[in-house]
Amino acid sequence: MTLPGDHSIETPPRAPSPVHRFGTLAVHAGSPIDKVSGAVIEPISLSTTFAQTAVGVPVGEYEYTRSSNPNRINFETAIARLERARYALAYASGSAATANILQSLAAGSHVISVSDVYGGTHRYFTKVASAHGVRVTFSPSIELDIEDLIKPETKLIWIESPSNPTLSLVDIRAVADIAHRSGIMVVVDNTFLSPYIQNPLEHGADLVVHSVTKYINGHSDVLMGVAAFNSEELWTRLSFLQNAIGAVPSPFDCWLAHRGAKTLHLRAREASKNGLMVAEALAKSPHVIAVNYPGLPNHKQRKIALKQHRDGLGGGMLSFRIKGGQEAAERFCQATQIFTLAESLGGVESLVEVPGSMTHAGIPKEQREAAGVFDDLVRISCGVEDGVDLVGDVLQALEKVVVGPKITNGLANSKTNGFANGHA
Ligand SMILES: *Cc1c(COP(=O)(O)O)cnc(C)c1O
Repeated sequence: MTLPGDHSIETPPRAPSPVHRFGTLAVHAGSPIDKVSGAVIEPISLSTTFAQTAVGVPVGEYEYTRSSNPNRINFETAIARLERARYALAYASGSAATANILQSLAAGSHVISVSDVYGGTHRYFTKVASAHGVRVTFSPSIELDIEDLIKPETKLIWIESPSNPTLSLVDIRAVADIAHRSGIMVVVDNTFLSPYIQNPLEHGADLVVHSVTKYINGHSDVLMGVAAFNSEELWTRLSFLQNAIGAVPSPFDCWLAHRGAKTLHLRAREASKNGLMVAEALAKSPHVIAVNYPGLPNHKQRKIALKQHRDGLGGGMLSFRIKGGQEAAERFCQATQIFTLAESLGGVESLVEVPGSMTHAGIPKEQREAAGVFDDLVRISCGVEDGVDLVGDVLQALEKVVVGPKITNGLANSKTNGFANGHA
């Protein structure tokens, strides 16, 4: 079985010993030389419709862009290879990928999810899925609870590893083994690590999803999602819904995200190297209560990181609790000069935010704190700037927060301008 629309690499998709390694696949998978012009980079195929020579006989393999488009197929082919999957389907956002998967469940289905999922996923589970009769139970320790939580109607288990924003890990294999005994499908949101650092299907997951908006595109200029999997039955169900619901990405976004994916291995390695440097610096600081980073030897699930992550890499994401409460956390985010105060992650530029008041504000406080999302928690996305500069920036911001006066909005603005002037 070859990938639909696959016209790139002739090797079997899941060869036991891959002929091509990650970097080679990132650059070449789904990137055919254009048959007409010889263009090395495929043109962007903006046409919404494709000519037919007779009724129901299209000239090529495309009919209408919502159903299939050359740039989307190229992107999907690339991601399938990078996630070691047979199939991938692209969506207009990571949230649309989540929605399509949940929509594929029959009314009356039950889902078990880790507690500290992405805020938007939590919102979909609690406010949208329930409207079509799908109930979700959240568990803070899924490996321990799963057997007790499984009901006859449980159809799906939703994992984020590392979780957002506390960077705790789930042993995917341990959960999948139990789930599969009851015929339950396991989904892993792999957004935080990217396919370079972790391939959940290799650890027993049935489906892996990404917000492409983050590491895969990597340049903070495309909103997109993707799901990858091996089951032909899933392909039939999900590709039907992808077309029927129509939450598909544009050809231009697919082209941009595919371009981003070609350097994923370089960016993920650099971000991970920077993540470790920043985590180590924070761990040594007297102004920090605790650091969550799976690349540190004292991370409570470091063993899982060594098992599931490429070379035990920790990735570019980390979070830490700052001394001085929520006010200190907010001031820290205003005091950094390279890290921009903003939501999102996984871009070439470093970002910083306070989940309790920003990305996770929608989750009730008690529930948030039970999952480790305290008001003083700061989340950092390390980009690919020079790691020495990032460490210097974090350390100067900590000093400023602890000893300095309250930072006003005026100063925050001049900070932004000062950075632009100093580095442009
Ligand atoms: C951003 C994000 C999503 C949602 O993706 P969008 O592209 O913003 O819809 C889902 N999961 C995680 C872990 C994310 O970071």
